[in-house]
Amino acid sequence: MKIWFTSDNVDWDASRCHYAAEQMLFTLFPGEKPEYPEEPVPTTLTDERNAVIFTLHRGKTLTNMSTLLLRDGHWYNGVVRFPSEKLEEAPEAVCHTVQRAVQQSFYAAGSALLSHDLPWGSLTGVRPVKLPTKALLEGATPKQAQKELEKTYHVSPLRAELAVDCAKESVKALKSLQNDEISLYIGIPFCPSRCVYCSFVSASVEKCLPLVEPFVEALCREIEATGALLREAGRAVRTIYMGGGTPTTLSARQLDRVLTALEAHIDLSRCSEFTVEAGRPDTITEEKLAVLAGHGVGRVSVNPQSMDDQVLRRMGRPHTAETIRKTMEIVIKTADFAVNMDLISGLPGDTPEGFARSLREVVALEPQNITVHTLALKKGSRLVTDENGAPARDPFSLPSGEAVKAMLDDAWNLLRENGYAPYYLYRQKYMSGAFENVGWAKDGFAGLYNIAMMEELQTIVAVGGGGITKLVWPATGKIERFNNPKYPQEYLRDIDKICAKKAELFGVLSSLS
Ligand code: SF4
Repeated sequence: MKIWFTSDNVDWDASRCHYAAEQMLFTLFPGEKPEYPEEPVPTTLTDERNAVIFTLHRGKTLTNMSTLLLRDGHWYNGVVRFPSEKLEEAPEAVCHTVQRAVQQSFYAAGSALLSHDLPWGSLTGVRPVKLPTKALLEGATPKQAQKELEKTYHVSPLRAELAVDCAKESVKALKSLQNDEISLYIGIPFCPSRCVYCSFVSASVEKCLPLVEPFVEALCREIEATGALLREAGRAVRTIYMGGGTPTTLSARQLDRVLTALEAHIDLSRCSEFTVEAGRPDTITEEKLAVLAGHGVGRVSVNPQSMDDQVLRRMGRPHTAETIRKTMEIVIKTADFAVNMDLISGLPGDTPEGFARSLREVVALEPQNITVHTLALKKGSRLVTDENGAPARDPFSLPSGEAVKAMLDDAWNLLRENGYAPYYLYRQKYMSGAFENVGWAKDGFAGLYNIAMMEELQTIVAVGGGGITKLVWPATGKIERFNNPKYPQEYLRDIDKICAKKAELFGVLSSLS
């Protein structure tokens, strides 16, 4: 779709609005590609069936951003106004105002065309909770924060309420975090096999068996180096999350080795939460769980994704619902873990009735946390491309957006009825029906790491494959990232460089407050 930006009286770097326009374009018209013609907007668009024209016009007191959307030969219009004095602010602030106006006016034009509103209105980002969190911190009441989401961003009342509920948890988490604390992520990029919907580059252990032992060795070295840097920077670890991949793909001995290195080199005296993503039930054994419990791990995930054996088979999960039930028995018998269980709504072949059955079965197992994901069609997953990179032939139909909505609506009611409350949420690109992933917890079991990481409340230091270190400057919101390589081969090859880069990054850690 051709996209033009014009203005008759504002000097405007429109290229800085491309991203905002594209995010709305992908949300309104999935699969559509943007084009930015060099020629000015033609006076008549006789050769086009689809196009968007954004026009910025500064008035004495109000500035208009208007969107003209041409779709299949029909025109739709959307206008947003903001005080003209906002164009006098610092360049970055002006940029944000104009980008937001681009998205909102595009949404207004797009929703005139669509027969339904989008659940998150004109919000396209991964972290919709940031807005109400900011509003609450600035003194708004939860009701006011919810109204702002509904009125300004056209978020549906249900989603606005959900976001504000999560924002309250975010504010609580923020108050509990100390300035000298960080959270630690440990990435184990191995899985026993690849699930069909997964785009993680986690390596199948069958193919990479010889790399696992050297990986554990390198990881222990990185933990030792990171521990020294943390001590020097005067930072304490508040929460730890071991994810991947599936960390319990490692043997009990290898897990013990990593956790022993952690205790030897990192001060864990202020660590109040230690989670291990056990994930795939086909990797969980009593021996491994005992090792985790022995090293102070208090939270584990056991992820069914569905309790329907047919759906599980289609998704390449080599376990059944019965395996999940048996695994939960072992988990409960081994230690007093707080358990999270993940489900995915919108899996191919699933139905609202089937999803409701899965959720009821999971609730009956009484985990302290349940995370309800919405399927995202990720590039690189076998749902989207085959092994040769060609478009996948999908032999199973995806549930419609309406069906996914029914799954989620039912989930929300059932979870609230059973004493779960939402505490964090995030969105991804290419999600079925443009919905969200939500973490639900029983009272007192909200995961601090999940909130701190998702809402970018705190610095996260990552070790291991695929981990992303994020230095967060809470006062300004500035964030600096460093990605560890995802593939085990690259991680092993670059381990010295990774440790050197970390040392460089930690030089700035002391300036964070
Ligand atoms: S277990 Fe998780 S990380 Fe591993 S392949 Fe399946 S979805 Fe991906």
